[in-house]
Amino acid sequence: MLWLPGPQCARAERRRRIDPFRRRGRGLPLPDYNGWFDAKTVADLYEGHLGSMNKRAAGHRLTLLGRLHEEIRVCTACRLHRTRTHAVPGEGGPSSRLMLIGEAPGANEDLQGKPFIGRAGQFLDALLAASGLVRSHIYITSAVKCRPPNNRTPKDDEMATCRSLWLERQIELVDPDLIVIMGKAPLRQLFGDKMQTRLSDLHGQIRLREGRRYLLTYHPAAAMRFPVARRAIQEDFAKIAGLLAKPARL
Ligand code: SF4
Repeated sequence: MLWLPGPQCARAERRRRIDPFRRRGRGLPLPDYNGWFDAKTVADLYEGHLGSMNKRAAGHRLTLLGRLHEEIRVCTACRLHRTRTHAVPGEGGPSSRLMLIGEAPGANEDLQGKPFIGRAGQFLDALLAASGLVRSHIYITSAVKCRPPNNRTPKDDEMATCRSLWLERQIELVDPDLIVIMGKAPLRQLFGDKMQTRLSDLHGQIRLREGRRYLLTYHPAAAMRFPVARRAIQEDFAKIAGLLAKPARL
């Protein structure tokens, strides 16, 4: 194990319950080493020390997220479980800085149990690549985890159940720096009816909810059909890298 001068720094961090994995990303200061070493040496030592702590923290999150996904796969809490083939919990790293929330699994997702693998998934992949983002670094899920019959819009009670049981826990566990809401359903699910649902007026905006930043945009399936929505979602995704470069909490 790497020895660091002032190991109380790491202990103090744990006592303050600050996840060191994100300490630098959120602009929090590095520990004070009382001027024993120059800044670069301190930064290198700290990164090395964080590396081992990060691996443990990431492993723990992975285990918890895996358990959560297993629970979702057997969930029968709302009527949507009766018509699904597979529930689609989500996909991505447990410490992703970016989370995408879509509406609901479609036919392909329902068959394979994975999010965004149909044509909308291909469109999303192209969108991510054009925005300089890597899908494997992103956690992707949806407002409801089971496909509604005939791809109808999820009902309010279904979305409320799925949010309180699963989505809130996914957000808390992954703890992303930025969440992108794709489409009206997750927008209504997380912000309620008070939010006007004309995405043409709302897209590109950042909204705060419980201290987290949410970027509002269209659903990729809508963007595939309508050129206006396509241009809008491209503009919105182009903002993501810049938003991630800013401190996570506003
Ligand atoms: S949609 Fe959500 S709440 Fe409803 S059965 Fe599926 S996982 Fe459970």
